[in-house]
Amino acid sequence: MTRPTRARAALTAAVLCAVAALAGCTADTPPHAAPAAKATTAAPSAHAPADTSCQPRRSLRPSGGLPQPGHMPAGSYMAQIQKKGRLVLGTSQDTLLFSSRNPFTGAVEGFDVDMGHQIAEAIFGDPDKLTIKVIPNEKRVDDAADGTVDLVAYTMTINCARWKRVNFSTVYYDAGQKVLVSTSSAAKGIGDLGGKRVCAPNGSTSLDNIAKAPSKPVAVGRASFGDCLVAFQQNEVDAISTDDTILAGLAAQDPYAHVVGDKFTQEPYGLAMSQQHPEFTRFVNAVLERNRANGTWKRTYDRWLGRFGPAPQPPAAEYRD
Ligand code: GLU
Repeated sequence: MTRPTRARAALTAAVLCAVAALAGCTADTPPHAAPAAKATTAAPSAHAPADTSCQPRRSLRPSGGLPQPGHMPAGSYMAQIQKKGRLVLGTSQDTLLFSSRNPFTGAVEGFDVDMGHQIAEAIFGDPDKLTIKVIPNEKRVDDAADGTVDLVAYTMTINCARWKRVNFSTVYYDAGQKVLVSTSSAAKGIGDLGGKRVCAPNGSTSLDNIAKAPSKPVAVGRASFGDCLVAFQQNEVDAISTDDTILAGLAAQDPYAHVVGDKFTQEPYGLAMSQQHPEFTRFVNAVLERNRANGTWKRTYDRWLGRFGPAPQPPAAEYRD
């Protein structure tokens, strides 16, 4: 699996630059940017039973129609956001296609960021009344739960363990976990990676899924996807395993890497919010419902993921009332 050293060194330098640019390590790095990645190796328990105490795809049903933008109901959390003047979105800055910093414009952009713009538009009538706060992968649940941010859009899988601490919207994207390996590797999927070091971000479902894989790979945690890619290029890990969407973005940055095998998990993405304001979850779901019906979801898909083929049907909304 080892690549030619010189090519690897040059590539590593190039990718470190690219990741640095993507990670916004520039003069305009916001003060709240995630701290420099620390190399950590996590060993999640392979025996933790899956939490099946809920039906994770079911969220709170919208109550009536959407209010006019700029006229949020008195006393609602939406009215508080309107008064504040900005919607605060917690997201990543190194997840290509979903939420990454455009090195030319400095803007953080992607499918997830557009979800934030769409909610801002519904509140203010202006999609740009959005403050993007870059948060570490590991802080997604905490920052949504305690209101550090109003909304988290971060390739975040809806599951029962997380529902215990945050509210999720209905599903806005259906992903699934795959594997990225070197083009010189014979591995065809997670089943071929027994005993191999496989990287995923700390705090992700991906890391747990690696640890639980019957083939018994060695799960290696890093702070971010960019850190996994660098570890892969420095031969500190043999593979990366996370959502197919994210791996597509990583493979696009490394000509010596490719994505193999079928999806071996289901990773339905939801927007996460505090449980203190259920009316905001209902409002977000009303916006998602309208945007599935009026073609906005499809346009968002085509914009960011259209290179992978025609847009599928948007995930159907399911409610728990
Ligand atoms: N979707 C998975 C999760 O929420 C893995 C990708 C990620 O960490 O963003 O944990």
